[in-house]
Amino acid sequence: MDLPRTASAVVIGGGVVGCSIAYNLARRGLTDVVVVERETVGSGTTSKAAGGIRVQFPTETEIRFSLEAIRVFERFEDEFGVDPGYKKIGYLFLVSEPEQLRAFEKRIALQTKLGADVRVITPADAQKLVAALRVDDLIAAVWGPGDGLAGPAEVTAGFARRARELGVKIVEGVRVESLERTNGRMSGVTTTAGAIASPLVINAAGPSAARIGRLAGVTLAVHPRRRHIFFTEPFPAIAGPVPLTTDVATGFYFRKELEQVLLSPGDVEDIGQDFDVPMDWSKVEEAVHKAIRRVPIIGDARIAGGWAGLRPLTPDDHAIIGWAPGVEGFFVAVGFGGHGFQHSPATGRYVAEWLLDGKPSLDLSLFDPGRFDRSGVRADKAPDAE
Ligand SMILES: Cc1cc2nc3c(=O)[nH]c(=O)nc-3n(C[C@H](O)[C@H](O)[C@H](O)COP(=O)(O)OP(=O)(O)OC[C@H]3O[C@@H](n4cnc5c(N)ncnc54)[C@H](O)[C@@H]3O)c2cc1C
Repeated sequence: MDLPRTASAVVIGGGVVGCSIAYNLARRGLTDVVVVERETVGSGTTSKAAGGIRVQFPTETEIRFSLEAIRVFERFEDEFGVDPGYKKIGYLFLVSEPEQLRAFEKRIALQTKLGADVRVITPADAQKLVAALRVDDLIAAVWGPGDGLAGPAEVTAGFARRARELGVKIVEGVRVESLERTNGRMSGVTTTAGAIASPLVINAAGPSAARIGRLAGVTLAVHPRRRHIFFTEPFPAIAGPVPLTTDVATGFYFRKELEQVLLSPGDVEDIGQDFDVPMDWSKVEEAVHKAIRRVPIIGDARIAGGWAGLRPLTPDDHAIIGWAPGVEGFFVAVGFGGHGFQHSPATGRYVAEWLLDGKPSLDLSLFDPGRFDRSGVRADKAPDAE
């Protein structure tokens, strides 16, 4: 496809976030949109996501984002013609410290008020949900039966397909190399395939968001951190379906993927990269060690493979959505950490409202791009391990 020379909006990044924004803009009538993707649609960190969707967030805005995601995923096939593989397998958090439980209880009150089904259950009840669990050292568990998962590739393909049908141009294998400004405001981008003039540039570059920000002289507090996921050979000894189960004490989580078990050590590591993600196979040991402590029978399973990806974290673990301070015409939707897949439907919807109606119908001040400057938290401060 030839690179369009002008556009009403250029979206940098064809991940799940960029494709959702492009689709929602087009659905609302702004069809003259170009998405520039340096590789292929959905090949960035979106391709590494575990697909989890939970309402178990600490803030009203994020809980509402998750509820919106559930609404969209429930009718995804009708709207996008793609089966997203949406399943309500539930999320189960295993709690061993009173302090952790108190933090959960505070959040559950808010989640329940907003209509989510989240409950504290006993360790014995947790074992009824996942028979293979060791629960003797737990004080409680937190169960969200409405939580679940869907396929990041399918969802991204759905957004991209409908966006294209509505007129959006998605160009692949093309990299944005510089951002152009005229009289202090955004006037377009220069790519490896030529220039596109546009008054509106949207940074949806995932782990590379800070690099794109720097092209406009804007510091964005997005810090990519590596996380591994491993999978076993078919392992019927743990019968599915299994909720996405997290051991809060160690960060270890697992779930069933067809006959295999997916497991992650919950690692958070700065590898000084925002694109290439080499595997560190020594992490298998860490994952298996944590797994056996919580699910002893996993000691009988064989690890068949794994992958690593970058989670674009921020210092307060909330995304950054809004106009970039100091550069008119530069909008950012970045820093989604470990929840960008599930928050992509709401992000697309509210970003489109913001850009087309002048403001979103939900208060998004939680995600304010200027908050780190005002709070005294330096934007370049590394996020705490989660
Ligand atoms: C191991 C792991 C597990 C995860 N599990 C979950 C989960 O269970 N649930 C969940 O909701 N989230 C999960 N996530 C997080 C989720 O993957 C991300 O938050 C989400 O995919 C971010 O989407 P994005 O579109 O912002 O980024 P990306 O998918 O990375 O898209 C950005 C795109 O921008 C492109 N790009 C960058 N620079 C340029 C440039 N200069 N020019 C052109 N294109 C450019 C990249 O090629 C990329 O395709 C997980 C992440 C990891 C690593």
